[in-house]
Amino acid sequence: MPECLFCKIIAGEIPSYKVYEDADTLAFLDINPNNYGHTLVIPKDHFENIYTTPDETLCKTMIVVRKLATAIRNGMEADGINVTINNEPAAGQVVDHLHIHIIPRHEGDWETKSQHLKYKDDQAIETIEKIKAALQ
Ligand code: AMP
Ligand code: ZN
Repeated sequence: MPECLFCKIIAGEIPSYKVYEDADTLAFLDINPNNYGHTLVIPKDHFENIYTTPDETLCKTMIVVRKLATAIRNGMEADGINVTINNEPAAGQVVDHLHIHIIPRHEGDWETKSQHLKYKDDQAIETIEKIKAALQ
């Protein structure tokens, strides 16, 4: 989909901090993380939301989500993980390409659940390195 932001990230037209990639799936850091290590997992084929994504694609994507959930929990030394999908604007969906949010949580940080952080300098690179190391 030429005008889709996440299709452009898949095509390399827009840069991203890649956490994981295989033939069907890409994972990269959210640009405005709710907590550091907040990652988006997307199928490489364009589907708008959970209603329209074929079962096989959704299953492949979720298998990657589970692997990454463990790696993000360990790599970011988190105490818990949120896995969420926003579907349709009323539910907060802004980008119309299915994406699963993986958000690390730390004990006592639940009141910051609406915050949006920024990465400074090399912090994004250090973050993906921590997650990738925990994936192996
Ligand atoms: P949603 O509200 O579920 O559609 O989530 C879209 C997410 O995409 C938001 O959390 C944004 O911070 C994130 N986002 C937007 N543009 C980019 C980008 N260029 N790279 C990484 N994440 C992005
Ligand atoms: Zn797309």
